[in-house]
Amino acid sequence: MMHIDIRKINAQKKYTGNMEFEYSAPETFIQIPSVSFTGPVKVAFEYELFEDDSIEIRGTVSYGLQGSCSRCLKPVAANVVGELDAYFEPRKDYEDYGYTNGVVDLKQAVEDAIMASMPYVILCKEECEGISYNGQADF
Ligand SMILES: [Zn+2]
Repeated sequence: MMHIDIRKINAQKKYTGNMEFEYSAPETFIQIPSVSFTGPVKVAFEYELFEDDSIEIRGTVSYGLQGSCSRCLKPVAANVVGELDAYFEPRKDYEDYGYTNGVVDLKQAVEDAIMASMPYVILCKEECEGISYNGQADF
């Protein structure tokens, strides 16, 4: 569920709360060769709806990556947690995130949070030195 229904929140007068859902992000979000998602991205956040119908969400996107170490090509898996902080205004031309017709579409904010948290490398261990050549390498 990638939407927040502002009309429903106003009707229920539940101006703060928690939401969570899963999002199957496209593999094209991953910038590292030979790496894929282990499953859907978990999206979890708290929201606060203000009197002017702007809404703030604060939470995380978390997901697993699996594939080959970027340096030595050993199989590797990693968990990534990124921040999801977004503010939505009830108008379309808002520079950050806008919404219309009482429904906030979270897709862009969630995708931005995933992209911002995506690592450029995935390593089997922090100090991985890559493939060793046993002194045979001639460079
Ligand atoms: Zn490695």
